[in-house]
Amino acid sequence: MNRSSMAQRQENVILFPFMAQGHLIPYLALALEIEKKLGYTVTFVNTPLNIQKLRPSLPPNTSIRLIELPFSSSDHNLPPNSENTDVLPYPLIIRLLESSLSLKPSFISLIHNLTHPPLCIIADMFFGWTVDIARDFGIFHSVFLSGGAYGMAIYYSIWLNQPQLKTDSDEFSLPDFPQIFRIHRSQLANNAAEATGTDSWSVFYKTELALTLKSDGFLINTVEDLDLIGLDYFRRKTGKPVWAIGPVNYSLTYKARSNKVAGINPDLCIEWLDNHQEDSVLYISFGSQNTISSSQLMELAIGLEKSGKNFIWVIRPPIGFDINGEIRSEWLPKGFEERMREKNRGLLVRKWAPQLEILSHKSTSVFLSHCGWNSILESLSFGVPIIGWPIAADQFNNVKLLEEEIRVCVEVARGNRSEIKHEDVMRVIDLVMNNRKGKGEEMKKKACEVREMIKDAIKEDDEASFKGSSVKAMEEFFDKALLMRKKTKMDDQ
Ligand code: UDP
Repeated sequence: MNRSSMAQRQENVILFPFMAQGHLIPYLALALEIEKKLGYTVTFVNTPLNIQKLRPSLPPNTSIRLIELPFSSSDHNLPPNSENTDVLPYPLIIRLLESSLSLKPSFISLIHNLTHPPLCIIADMFFGWTVDIARDFGIFHSVFLSGGAYGMAIYYSIWLNQPQLKTDSDEFSLPDFPQIFRIHRSQLANNAAEATGTDSWSVFYKTELALTLKSDGFLINTVEDLDLIGLDYFRRKTGKPVWAIGPVNYSLTYKARSNKVAGINPDLCIEWLDNHQEDSVLYISFGSQNTISSSQLMELAIGLEKSGKNFIWVIRPPIGFDINGEIRSEWLPKGFEERMREKNRGLLVRKWAPQLEILSHKSTSVFLSHCGWNSILESLSFGVPIIGWPIAADQFNNVKLLEEEIRVCVEVARGNRSEIKHEDVMRVIDLVMNNRKGKGEEMKKKACEVREMIKDAIKEDDEASFKGSSVKAMEEFFDKALLMRKKTKMDDQ
């Protein structure tokens, strides 16, 4: 896709994500795509510490402008220098969300003081308040959802309607989403399960998500053919265009992602995989910030050992302990790590693993994942089927999509408060990894089909007929923004 022209280069696109790595990184990936492939100038807006952290991770020669909006966490009853969810314990995250409302006046002045009005504002789902600002300035507005459409649609429906508060039953339907047959209470994230309707999470989400529905459109980090049910929800609910533009290219954000402390040299990890048979290793990770309970940790370890399978496990201390702390021996079966090392059966990685390198390796067979949307897209981009263990947010809905609709997943457990048994871990591993003539084979085949679907969606051929759906959607989005710009100019004359 090379549609850049001088005129486009002069157009400025504002990107404004919420202050969490899971939002900042996909927005950065989107910013780099918009700049590199479409040739627009991008202004990336955030609080000072997030901008300062991102600055060194931008590639050389980028023209992306990073703008700091004044913010001090201590003014909001938060610990000093706390501008990102990755430095906050869970109970304080809602306070960071609420404090983001204080960015409104400085965001207005930023837009007001620009010499040329921007072509569009692309803002976070938690920043619904930006819609009215864009409207007041006559600027095209879009929300960019870094999660999948299906998972996000259920998330929106649950927070906007709170059906769980209107019944005592364990199962309920979603009033504005009949395509989803039933949700079980155990599929609610902790904050939704504990919601009263007037608690801080409910008040914030109901307000901000409802405001985003008035945006001029939604950009979603997904693939059209993979996620039709969720895309259809947003199209019906908003009556506005919804563009499936994913997966955004994370390889461009490598430096920003990798400023986490690596728990292993990537070369050693690859060497370990090289020394194992093709299609024989289970990769286990709960993403960048989630962890399980200590009893779950123990049962998972016993299940892994008894399964007889090879594995790489990105291991973190259980809930209630410092997530970046040391792993204590009492959390694992006696001698577990040594036995696994001696038998060359299992590799425990602390802190941070080179996930893309692991998933793309031919020895990796299956991914036991918390089903964060990035992990799902990465796994499926390499045709790796999934064992699901959702912990929070939209992850429960993502598992539902993967298991019931796309059929590339089996769920092994739910949440980090439930009891699990090692027999269940063994049963699911056996079903998926030993059953390559039955369920396992079916999942692998489907995952490979999805891998091709993703490749097709991002194909960048200059011939329109060969362009992938995500590439076309991104172009359509900018055509729409330019059209609105022309219309506003004509109305002004
Ligand atoms: N990730 C990684 N190494 C790790 C853990 C996570 O590279 O040890 C990356 C992973 O590749 C993905 C992101 O962190 O891109 C996690 O995003 P996801 O949406 O899956 O989950 P979240 O962390 O937001 O819950």
